[in-house]
Amino acid sequence: DDREPAIWTDGLAKNYGNTVAVDDLHLEIAPGEVFGLLGPNGAGKTTTILMLLGLSEPSAGQARVVGLDPTRQALEVKRRVGYVPDNAGFYGGLTGQQNLEYTAQLNGLDPATRRDRIASLLDEVGLAERADEPVRTYSHGMRQRLGIADALLKDPEVLILDEPTLGLDPRGADQVLDLVNDLASQRSVAVLLASHLLGQVQVVCSRVGIFVDGRMVASGTVDELAAQHGGRLVVEVQT
Ligand code: ATP
Repeated sequence: DDREPAIWTDGLAKNYGNTVAVDDLHLEIAPGEVFGLLGPNGAGKTTTILMLLGLSEPSAGQARVVGLDPTRQALEVKRRVGYVPDNAGFYGGLTGQQNLEYTAQLNGLDPATRRDRIASLLDEVGLAERADEPVRTYSHGMRQRLGIADALLKDPEVLILDEPTLGLDPRGADQVLDLVNDLASQRSVAVLLASHLLGQVQVVCSRVGIFVDGRMVASGTVDELAAQHGGRLVVEVQT
């Protein structure tokens, strides 16, 4: 693949005083790829995401996101990268549709295209039928999917999701992961997904990186990693 990587890092690192949150990270994620950032709480996943978004200054190394340097072009990164935090805030009293309209307005989407785009996104994430109900009536999984629709309003080339399946029942998790899979394969969006539950997310990950104490100790396809571990790969998690 000779396309520019969607995400690339070279020796990226972050220290908080004596704590090494991320150490010497080398990543390369292609358009259309779903990369899983796997590891227990405190392994450095969120810190990595914050550096890629330009929200945290690296202590060393470099990153490029859609060719941009997040330390100098954070606003442009924000325009072109969708971010779904693990607990996206919506206005519970507003409907799903109204929440998306609010974001679309903030993003400066022109009113003529806004309606169609929101309708098609609500359909894409499976919320069309509930679009006119207040978000406070939505399940956690529905909110998660609304978060993805919200992040897709700007038609991003990269989508970053922090713990997208956390707290979801198996059906809700499957719905979110199916959506992620479709986005990567049909829209060629690069997806970076952080999770501490390998078993839950591995079906959609083209590759995963295993993080322990700030270091990516292994990376590859789940099959490759499992082969190195006698056919089974278990990521121990403590929360
Ligand atoms: P979680 O899922 O809990 O967010 P994580 O894998 O995302 O875990 P990070 O939040 O990136 O891990 O944290 C990595 C390490 O850096 C941890 O030891 C954490 O305590 C430390 N850390 C993170 N943010 C700060 C901060 N602002 N100040 C000091 N230490 C921090």
